[in-house]
Amino acid sequence: MSEQGKGVFIGAYIPPELKAALQERAWLNHRTLSQEIALLLDESARRPTLPSTHRQLHCLRCGHQWTPRVEGEPQNCPACNSPYWNRERKRA
Ligand SMILES: [Zn+2]
Repeated sequence: MSEQGKGVFIGAYIPPELKAALQERAWLNHRTLSQEIALLLDESARRPTLPSTHRQLHCLRCGHQWTPRVEGEPQNCPACNSPYWNRERKRA
């Protein structure tokens, strides 16, 4: 395998399917593949992160409200520590 001089080193792994799509886009826009990758990285750097910090969670057990710092649902309510903080209590 000798792709010296042709390989694109950007310090990130580009999956083959993405690379193929980028090659096509580069060709259509009369740009080089590395230019296209640079643009892609620039785009993803500018893309705002998910507004998870503005998400409010509400414990159905103790009524505590908090803003999670992690993606997804937390395991327990930070106040009452209940793992069922997001489940309605079912009526029998
Ligand atoms: Zn709670």
